[in-house]
Amino acid sequence: MSDSYDLIVIGSGPGGYVCAIRAAQLGMKVACVEKRATLGGTCLNIGCIPSKAMLAASEKFHAAESEFEKMGIKTGGVKLDLKTMMKFKDSVVEANTKGIEFLFKKNKIDWLKGAGKITGKGKVDVDGKTYDTKNIVIATGSDVAGLPGIEIDEKKIVSSTGALELDKVPETMVVIGGGVIGLELGSVWSRLGAKVTVIEFMDQILPGMDGEIRKEANKIFKKQGLEFKLSTKVTSAKSSAKGVDLTLEAASGGNEEKMSADIVLVAVGRKAYTENLGLDSVGVETDERGRVKTDGHFKTNVDGIYAIGDVIAGPMLAHKAEDEGVVLAEMLDGQSGHIDYNLIPGVVYTWPEVANVGKTEEQLKEEGVEYKVGKFPFMANGRARAMNAVDGFVKIIADKRTDRVLGCHIIGPEAGTLIAEVTLGMEFSSSAEDIARTCHAHPTLEEVVKEAALAVDGRPLHV
Ligand SMILES: Cc1cc2nc3c(=O)[nH]c(=O)nc-3n(C[C@H](O)[C@H](O)[C@H](O)COP(=O)(O)OP(=O)(O)OC[C@H]3O[C@@H](n4cnc5c(N)ncnc54)[C@H](O)[C@@H]3O)c2cc1C
Repeated sequence: MSDSYDLIVIGSGPGGYVCAIRAAQLGMKVACVEKRATLGGTCLNIGCIPSKAMLAASEKFHAAESEFEKMGIKTGGVKLDLKTMMKFKDSVVEANTKGIEFLFKKNKIDWLKGAGKITGKGKVDVDGKTYDTKNIVIATGSDVAGLPGIEIDEKKIVSSTGALELDKVPETMVVIGGGVIGLELGSVWSRLGAKVTVIEFMDQILPGMDGEIRKEANKIFKKQGLEFKLSTKVTSAKSSAKGVDLTLEAASGGNEEKMSADIVLVAVGRKAYTENLGLDSVGVETDERGRVKTDGHFKTNVDGIYAIGDVIAGPMLAHKAEDEGVVLAEMLDGQSGHIDYNLIPGVVYTWPEVANVGKTEEQLKEEGVEYKVGKFPFMANGRARAMNAVDGFVKIIADKRTDRVLGCHIIGPEAGTLIAEVTLGMEFSSSAEDIARTCHAHPTLEEVVKEAALAVDGRPLHV
């Protein structure tokens, strides 16, 4: 292993490992520092991948338990083997993290094992040994954000990490926070048998998403058995012999309410992680939320030091981090690059899924943009009926004058897959009519997207 590099990336999450691979493809001599025992960061180890494995497994369990019979499938009783389900999840994580190790070897990227600290311009210390480099990329990601006065012990009061490791299904679970992670993991444990209550400070779940989608999501998840306490804050949560005792209050203040649960999941967001990175010693600036400050080209205020992913501003999403990694590596190679942050899709992997790209109606109203809306329900789609998955709709928003698509919001089966065609369309400045006139195979869920595009012009065919 060499002591000097063209590029040292600190952190091997989707931002860091992708940046390292792209830089190596471009001929740079690259090392990536990772202190975790396995590569892949939050995403592969304790985030996207294990949560999706648990969502997939619990979805199948729930379907076998409560949906198969309607389709004429008799099971003779479905039993949960949580230990094996967890083993399945762990095996998915292992396959993915080993996959990054293979990609590092293939691209001749050195994995510097240990905690990285920037000790000067072009100098990174890894557990006592100093390496020289032309450029440094900070890709140290994020960590769980807590709530004041609530101590996460990862046993009874857990973060997403603990919620992916429970050794038995709790009878009752309180999820603090009705955002993406809270709803995904709340759904997992609800499907496996827990009575789940979601407590949300705002007046509706999924803050930041399109208003109609938020309402529909609330209605569908309630039907599935999730209970919601909106406009409510948790003021304390304390472990007791039995479980956890919570005190709640209206968000605007008011009478206290007591509640208890076997497990409490704190899912109120994540914060940038820069602990012991040596930022102060080299003078790298951070913002009021502790995120590394960068310009439009991922440069920090210190020459030769860049940052990408969850540790900088923007949506905390793996694909955002990956795209930043690629663009930055190409910029370091002398190429130009650009990311349209308006076109980063967001997906909630519940059932049904929720997906969005571009602007919401609320944002367009605020910006004073005139728009038209087309909506189409999955209920009116043959394939959705054949799949017994008719909840939800596709909503496309287009500019009133030019018909250019400004946003798309989907709640329904495979929403996360369906959003891709609209994202691609928007990348090419597509109009709603372009989507409506594109031939969509029959019978597919994609036809709902086409019908919503037709509905923008008031001419859907199947309602
Ligand atoms: C439960 C959960 C589910 C999620 N699901 C999704 C999803 O479905 N889709 C999606 O897009 N996003 C999802 N996310 C978010 C996604 O995981 C993050 O946006 C993504 O991982 C950010 O990538 P990153 O490369 O910026 O940092 P990270 O993935 O956080 O990686 C940073 C890495 O840096 C390492 N590190 C930190 N400091 C040092 C140091 N000083 N020296 C060496 N190593 C260091 C850390 O150990 C870590 O491995 C989820 C997150 C969680 C928690």
